[in-house]
Order: sequence, then C-alpha cells, then structure tokens
Amino acid sequence: MRVVERMLAWGLATLVTVAMPARAEWVRVSGTAMTTAIEMEFWSEDPAVASKAGDAVLAMFDRIDHQMSRYRDDSELSRVNREAASGPVEVSDSLFTVLQQALRISELSNGAFDISFGSVGYLYDFRARQQPSDEELAEGLAKVNYKSVVLDPSANTVRFLDEGIRLDLGGIAKGYAVDRGIDILKSFGIRQARLSAGGDLRLLGDKRGKPWIVGIRDPRSESRNAMVLPLTNVAVSTSGDYERFFFDANHERVHHILSPATGKPAKGVQSVTILGDDSITTDGLSTAVFVLGAAKGLEMINELEGIDAIIIDEQRQVHYSDGLMAPEGS
Ligand code: ADP
Ligand code: MG
Repeated sequence: MRVVERMLAWGLATLVTVAMPARAEWVRVSGTAMTTAIEMEFWSEDPAVASKAGDAVLAMFDRIDHQMSRYRDDSELSRVNREAASGPVEVSDSLFTVLQQALRISELSNGAFDISFGSVGYLYDFRARQQPSDEELAEGLAKVNYKSVVLDPSANTVRFLDEGIRLDLGGIAKGYAVDRGIDILKSFGIRQARLSAGGDLRLLGDKRGKPWIVGIRDPRSESRNAMVLPLTNVAVSTSGDYERFFFDANHERVHHILSPATGKPAKGVQSVTILGDDSITTDGLSTAVFVLGAAKGLEMINELEGIDAIIIDEQRQVHYSDGLMAPEGS
C-alpha cells in the first residue's frame, strides 16, 4: 500500500529557479509496515530518484518487519524465541544490532526497559481487551530478565540462560528502521527529510532554511497538540499510554507499556518524548522513561550527553530535562 503525493514548494521554487533544476520539489511518500503508518517527506531534485528512494525505504521497513516481528512464526526473532534456550542462535547484523542496543538501554535504565518482558507482554491482547490473571502474571514475570539474554559479538549469536524467555522488540525496532531509512535517503543524495513510523520521527537537515515543525500530541486528545517544537536534524520519539489500550471493568486504563517489575502497565505518566541523535536510542529511551516515571526518568536523562526529555505526567504537568530548561534569569 502506498501513496505518493508531490507538492511543488511554490514559494521556494520561485526563489530558487535560477539555482535549481525545474523539477526540484518536496516529495511525500507513505505506507504501512510494522502495524504502523510510515510517512516521509523529502526535498528532491529528480523525480526518478525520489520514487526509487521512497520505494527503497518502504521495502526496508518490510524487511525489518519480517526479521523482527514477534507475530510472524517465520521471523528471525521467532526463531530466536524458539531456539536460543537450547544454544547460541546466529542472527543477522540488523537483529544483532537491535539486541545490542536494547541491552544497552536495559543497563542504562536498570531494567525498566527490558525486551524479555514478552513472557508477560504476550499475555495481553489490547484489541480483545484481555489481560493476564495474577497467577499467569507471576509465572511470566519469573522469566523476565534481560541479563538472561547473552550476546556474542564475535559470532553474531544470541542465547538464553533460561527456558521460557520471550523477546519483544516493539519498543525499539521501529527506531532502528527509521535510522536505516534516513541512511537510505542519504545514499540517494537527499539532504532534507522527515521520516516517521508511528511515534518515532527523524529529521534530516532543515526545511530548506526553516526548521521543521514537530507537534507533540496531547495524550488526552485525538487532534490537539500539547506543544509544537521547531527542530532540525534530530530524532524524536514519543511513547504514550494512548497508543494501544482499553479500560478494564474498574475503569483502569490498561495500556501497552509494561513495568518489567510488576508485569502491569506503568503508571504515573501519560507520555514521554525523547530527543537525541538517532531513533534507536530515542525509541528505547522513551519506553524506558515511561516505565521509570518523571523523577527517575529525568535523573537518567540528565546524565546522558545529547539526550533530552519532555514528560507529561498523570496530572498533565510537563517536565523538561535540564538541556531544555530556560537558562536562569531569562
Ligand atoms: P509505540 O510502539 O507506540 O511507538 P513505544 O516505543 O513506547 O511505543 O513502544 C511500546 C512497545 O514497547 C509495546 O507495544 C511493547 O511492544 C514494548 N514494551 C512495552 N513495555 C516494555 C518494556 N518495559 N521494555 C521494553 N519494551 C517494552
Ligand atoms: Mg519506544
């Protein structure tokens, strides 16, 4: 499924007709992969190149989905889940990189981010409004521990130290794919682009002399933004309790970001937005900070070079990391 829209950038086109070939334009391409809308917009000086670049990005998203989806029995990830408790399983470079980065974020967040949460995560079905019983939770929780996932970089293998471990890359694979997408666009000579997959967005360059305008959604509104940021050349990921959820019989919101400590939806915040250099990091960290909550989350983020956070808590109060705070006296 894909739609290509071309928009002539009228104002700019008149300004730059002397310097630019006649067909230079903003190109928009969208598709669906990883159960998410993929959207990109980039400045192209050649329509043939633009169409190839857009196709290549969408094909890459499909490839990564086939490698890393836990919903496909024939994905690489599913093979790892089936076989890694019996011995080392060799995986592709892409999957190895994602596993490595996932474990790095687990270490950073003291296990708030943990791709082995699958043994409880798989017990939820948000569409069917199903959640596990306390007994089921306890059984699954006993298997959640990223330290039981062991990587060997010299052989590109992964093995589990325990039976019953189930990995789920839903909190990080999209970020990885967005980074690869930006690499692809660059390889086609594109220097200004916006690429998003659901809550993960990366900006390459600016919007030809102006910043890109990025809205951060109001977590309790379908249409309103809580704020709007002018940004260039940055990765921005948002995790929210509104993406996949249902209300249970006690009117509690049951959503998709789970605390690896309790196996239940993390409480205390409505959304977390992370800004950084690459999407794999901002994607993983937005999920991690959601689980940690505002205070501990900001403590972690303020220690990290080049990373910032905007947290909307359950009282709808907004918290900013130190790097985003207005300087004193201003
Ligand atoms: P989205 O998928 O809406 O962009 P996130 O990046 O926050 O949002 O990812 C949420 C997904 O992360 C969940 O659907 C699930 O697959 C996974 N996940 C949930 N809790 C955790 C956790 N504690 N650690 C790692 N991954 C998690
Ligand atoms: Mg995430």
